[in-house]
Amino acid sequence: MRICRFTAGDDPMFGLVDGAGEKLAEISGDPLYTKIELTGQTHPLEDVRLLAPVIPRSKVVGIGRNYADHAAEMQGEVPAEPLMFLMPNTAVVGPGDPVVVPSVTTEVSYEAELAVVIGRLCKDVAATDAASVVFGYTAANDVTARDLQRTDGQWARAKGMDTFCPLGPWLETDLDPSALSVRCWVDGDLRQDGSTADMVYGVGALVEYVSRAFTLLPGDVILTGTPAGVGPVVAGQRVEIDIEGIGTLSNPFVAAD
Ligand code: MG
Repeated sequence: MRICRFTAGDDPMFGLVDGAGEKLAEISGDPLYTKIELTGQTHPLEDVRLLAPVIPRSKVVGIGRNYADHAAEMQGEVPAEPLMFLMPNTAVVGPGDPVVVPSVTTEVSYEAELAVVIGRLCKDVAATDAASVVFGYTAANDVTARDLQRTDGQWARAKGMDTFCPLGPWLETDLDPSALSVRCWVDGDLRQDGSTADMVYGVGALVEYVSRAFTLLPGDVILTGTPAGVGPVVAGQRVEIDIEGIGTLSNPFVAAD
């Protein structure tokens, strides 16, 4: 199923998106917590505004240097264990929402990533059981202020600022994450073209590692790292991220007022 969160002008609701990505059927509650029941109402997708498909309940966990080719382009080694960082849920925005480039940075980069959305409270999950705690997958842009990442030493500000974690366009619940293309365009130019098959630690291993450190709650998100090809994006440009089997997440970048 493709589950979106949207507004038709009133409070946010959830919906099931059809295969063509043209129409949605309303769901009565939040599918993370209640059985999916359709209201009977449908909308053409072009008549609604899609929102971030999930607002992480407690955290977004990022994973750094999880593709060898990206670690190499950053002049870094592949870490001996997954390299974790946290970002606040206030960084999350949805498809089409502007990413605001603040004046404290002059070097912002895009990072196309597969995002894992957790479906139930869990702790110490074995890699082989990971699928049982995953609700679905979506596309993410792990927007990074590269200059602040270097000078701050830790990454909270560089990656966690408001609007720096676009998610969408919807969640796909039926997906094998082991070999999906991960691509990124800036103003239509292809910049990243990788595959989740090249992740150093796959989804199962990441769920195991992260859940050993943190209790995971429904709606928490794990970003799985980015392939090679990262680079600058400036206000006025648009970044599109496509994950095979999910869809395309598109966001304009704008300067802060
Ligand atoms: Mg990243």
